Amino acid sequence: MKKALICGISGQDGAYLAQLLLSKGYLVCGTSRDAQISSFQNLVRLGIRDQIKLESMALTDFRSVLQVLTKIEPDEIYNLAGQSSVGLSFEQPVETLESMATGTLNLLEAMRFLGASSKFYNAGSSECFGDTGNLAADERTPFRPRSPYAVAKATAFWEVANYREAYGLFACSGILFNHESPLRPERFVTQKVVAAACRIAQGSSEKLHLGNVSIQRDWGWASEYVEAMHLMLQQDKPDDYAIATGETNSLEAFVEAAFAEVDLNWHDHVVADASLLRPTDLSVGRANPVKARQELGWEAKLKMKDVVKKMMTAKLDSHHKV
Ligand code: NDP
Repeated sequence: MKKALICGISGQDGAYLAQLLLSKGYLVCGTSRDAQISSFQNLVRLGIRDQIKLESMALTDFRSVLQVLTKIEPDEIYNLAGQSSVGLSFEQPVETLESMATGTLNLLEAMRFLGASSKFYNAGSSECFGDTGNLAADERTPFRPRSPYAVAKATAFWEVANYREAYGLFACSGILFNHESPLRPERFVTQKVVAAACRIAQGSSEKLHLGNVSIQRDWGWASEYVEAMHLMLQQDKPDDYAIATGETNSLEAFVEAAFAEVDLNWHDHVVADASLLRPTDLSVGRANPVKARQELGWEAKLKMKDVVKKMMTAKLDSHHKV
């Protein structure tokens, strides 16, 4: 039985990855900064909380990382932990950098120190590319990070590449573009839009405040993206892969689609709010995920409109159950 360790299992991707690995017969262990306090709500929601062995681990504390790796001896390690909000990274730059850069380094160092043969996946991000305009970014596109979050992710990306080259570790980065699900918290704009559209459809007179709706992103479906993570660690050689749908849409189009699901015109309910603009933002995120298709055999089936529909359905269902 293969053993997987998922760092950051309480998050969106951690929960879906745990579900996938359990379905493949893995023994799944997961970490949270404080496993005693964390409610693991996402694991509860997927009905898998009791099938997972949970440990406390602070990624920024080398001793804690070393102890968990020694105890679990995982075949595969997935590092999904860290401060994951681009917006919040402008308010908490040090926390963001340390949780990503020091956290990833501690995992790599612990693997090197233990001589562990575990395969390692690190959660990279398309935010590292910065603004690529009309160019569809792939694994060879240079990084020009434009937020503390992206700087931290770029640092972790090069740490992974360096440990792979210098010490022969089986270490991969997935450069993932945005992926959504009902498990996304409302801090993220997609869930904020979906939640507001549902409340308004059910009678709320609130206005939805948004920053820049002209930004463009490649939005996919989270449970498909965790399959790509797993596939990377099943290859003969470790490598980095850009993971995306290959389709870019504006936030305006996302908002329009969400309100259209409940027969509303978004123009009647959305207010432009300059206080929500970021100090620097990416205007366009565009991806070329051809390497993942050719080498991993992975391709996104669900595109933006499908994502909106599924998130809206899940949110409306949850309102009906309350
Ligand atoms: P989440 O924020 O849902 O989960 C991340 C987990 O990391 C949390 O559950 C939390 O676990 C832990 N964490 C949060 N803040 C900190 C911190 N300051 N220090 C240490 N640990 C922290 O992220 P997702 O599941 O959405 O994403 C998983 C990974 O993939 C993240 O690294 C994210 O940056 C990256 N990514 C996500 C994309 C997306 O569109 N979802 C796109 C590209 C990359 P706990 O509180 O239990 O310790």
